[in-house]
Amino acid sequence: MQTCRDLGALRERIGTWKQEGRRIGFVPTMGNLHAGHYALVELARQHCDAVIASIFVNPTQFGPNEDYARYPRTEQRDAEGLAQAGTAALFLPSVDVMYPFGAMGCVQMHVPGITDILCGAHRPGHFNGVATVVARLFNMVQPDCAVFGRKDYQQLQVIRYMSEELSFPIEIIPAPTLREASGLAMSSRNQYLSDEERATATAIYRTLESMRAACIAGTPTAKIEQDAEAELQSLGFTVDYAEIRSATLAPASRAMDTRRVALIAAFLGRTRLIDNLEFEIP
Ligand code: AMP
Repeated sequence: MQTCRDLGALRERIGTWKQEGRRIGFVPTMGNLHAGHYALVELARQHCDAVIASIFVNPTQFGPNEDYARYPRTEQRDAEGLAQAGTAALFLPSVDVMYPFGAMGCVQMHVPGITDILCGAHRPGHFNGVATVVARLFNMVQPDCAVFGRKDYQQLQVIRYMSEELSFPIEIIPAPTLREASGLAMSSRNQYLSDEERATATAIYRTLESMRAACIAGTPTAKIEQDAEAELQSLGFTVDYAEIRSATLAPASRAMDTRRVALIAAFLGRTRLIDNLEFEIP
């Protein structure tokens, strides 16, 4: 696996692949990789002839009191895992490569509407940072397709909207959420959890399953959301939201079809965890 740290090396690598007529698949990450990330590489390999991953802990998507400084950085181990998973190249830009005029002076993206709700409401500016870095990565890497996890459901919708609205010629491929046997969604942030917190964290997926069952049984959305929040609070979570939405993330009451998604974001101690469950109502 070739590692590219600057744009010159990246463009040479991509240019050669394009000349060879290869279809290029891209898997952007923030590192500290787990099986969920490697499954994205596997999916990209099924759709493309050459897979490039990136690792970049993006400062513009973290709020001032969030975990940017302590976000786990495990570059060596990640590179080994990516190579084993069949990644052909790794883009490892520094902050200077990503933001040559500095993060404060960078041209920013704003995706309207969808970024004001759920995580966007609780993490102001977060999705501007995500859209900004993904647009830059797309422009630098110029892949044919890019894989994003359904674990970050709202992020996936933001990227789809941006990509379609800006006419990026890139197919966005969603990947299923990989979970521990306990149901806990795999996440780099799980490693902040103590053993006890990790056991408690499994309640998020159980609560999502209860929300789905209640929704299918016809319980009013407001009651489902109140019950879910109360359940999580009783277990020691500080809940940002527990909501049922349409698949487009419009309020469930305005859904155009039968597809729904239950979404939870909650803190256990200082660790913020998110998860979701997609389903159909009969
Ligand atoms: P991150 O490094 O957390 O920014 O995640 C990079 C990519 O991996 C994003 O597209 C995430 O949605 C995806 N991802 C993270 N955790 C999982 C998981 N448990 N299952 C599937 N995809 C995931």
